[in-house]
Amino acid sequence: MRQRILVVEDEPSIAENITYALETEQFEFKWCATAQSGLDAWRSEPFDLAILDIGLPDMDGFEVCREIRKTSTMPIIFLTARETEIDRVVGLEMGGDDYVVKPFSPRELTARVKAVLRRTIAIDPTAAAAPTRSKSPQRCEQSGFHIDEERMEIHYHHQKLELTRYEHRLLVALANRPGRVWTRMQLMEQAWEEPDTAMERTVDAHIKTLRAKLRHACPDADDPIRTHRGTGYSMREHA
Ligand code: CA
Repeated sequence: MRQRILVVEDEPSIAENITYALETEQFEFKWCATAQSGLDAWRSEPFDLAILDIGLPDMDGFEVCREIRKTSTMPIIFLTARETEIDRVVGLEMGGDDYVVKPFSPRELTARVKAVLRRTIAIDPTAAAAPTRSKSPQRCEQSGFHIDEERMEIHYHHQKLELTRYEHRLLVALANRPGRVWTRMQLMEQAWEEPDTAMERTVDAHIKTLRAKLRHACPDADDPIRTHRGTGYSMREHA
């Protein structure tokens, strides 16, 4: 069965790009130009994922997300236009699963859609039998990470990771110093432009999504990130 994507975007030309790309990738979609019509559609039809523009004419995408999150864990990807919005998406727990910054290429967006769907299906145990997850067993050795800072890419057991900016920075800090125990504040200082003690729990949220991505990239490997209760995190040292 084809997966259905809800697209809430007020700019017709952008919406057209998105829906064309989705169609090319065999997704079904519904396009709504306002927050209200998007919520109405979400209430009346089943969707596998929502793409929410943040700047909508009637209310912002965050409010739409909050409304959806009251009853649903459907994956949500935000479309952001400004740096200030990105910080809200990533820094606060807005309930989104990922974000894409405008202007973006349709290919980039559909890659994110697929990655988020794979990830959420992989995490949700009730969806374990879903047919979209490829069954090819990935043999994982004790090799770990390959960081290409120039390309801003990290491979984990030869799988390229799709990371948000903060996940990327957190992982670089951890992976470059195996065994070192970091406090949440120290990790914030590594990854955030403006570290804020009031937001230390945000580190936990990002470590959680990071772990899920690592687990998805290599289901056979042990969790490489250790939790130090009451302190913070470290990267396991491999023999
Ligand atoms: Ca807009």
